[in-house]
Amino acid sequence: MPFSNDKIIQMINSIIPLSAFTDNYIWVLVSGNSVIVVDPGDSKPVEKFLIENNLSLSAILITHHHYDHTGGMLDLAVQHNCPVFGPRGNHIKGVTNELSDGERFDVLNLNFSVIETPGHTLDHISFYSDSMENPILFCGDTLFSGGCGRLFEGTANQMYESLNKIKRFPEDTLIYCAHEYTQSNLSFALEINPSNQNLIEHSKKVNDLRNRNEITIPTSLGLEKTINPFLRLEDSEIKEKAELFNDIKISSSIETLATIRSWKDSF
Ligand code: ZN
Ligand code: FE
Repeated sequence: MPFSNDKIIQMINSIIPLSAFTDNYIWVLVSGNSVIVVDPGDSKPVEKFLIENNLSLSAILITHHHYDHTGGMLDLAVQHNCPVFGPRGNHIKGVTNELSDGERFDVLNLNFSVIETPGHTLDHISFYSDSMENPILFCGDTLFSGGCGRLFEGTANQMYESLNKIKRFPEDTLIYCAHEYTQSNLSFALEINPSNQNLIEHSKKVNDLRNRNEITIPTSLGLEKTINPFLRLEDSEIKEKAELFNDIKISSSIETLATIRSWKDSF
């Protein structure tokens, strides 16, 4: 690898997406010659990246038990003899450091805090760090750009609480979710919040990016608050659309979330 590239990696703590499967992102944080990898569903793209850039793997972070987030973890952990930070519960083979809500830990020069964000799964956790210029959040399949994760194990109530926890982070927090779902999320968002000018504008940008096959992540929490219907449950237009969809009267944000989440499932 050329010296100049090496230099760039040394100077910045860069965060690089590796594509996996059809639409997963495995996030790689580079610090000096070491990296942290988040949700390695597949070991192959990670090994390739490490070899090509002559980097060593220092730690693995896992947000939840699904295979597309954990499938490559054991191989990588054994091969590189590194710790694996993940959800408590002793149900994910290979996790060495089980974490619960509010815990903090250091890897490389970064300090992470853990928030439990159940909803998509019951074990789902997210990793927040403000050790870099912008705060960063690895939220797996909880918050996506323009949407949120499907409710496979948890309830709408749990997802609501999880999204509210995320909402409390600073507006400039960069959101590193685990899938490129933005375009389909935004077409649903436009259906239920058609008068949202920020959403209309942002959708155009995202369509341009996707037409060029470019990534739409990270997004920022500030932007998501203006475009993401799952963070805008108090918007009267979204509530009215949800009421029309199910022909019901909605009396809480949690009901709005439950309604639009199941609507999205069949959209
Ligand atoms: Zn998942
Ligand atoms: Fe996933």
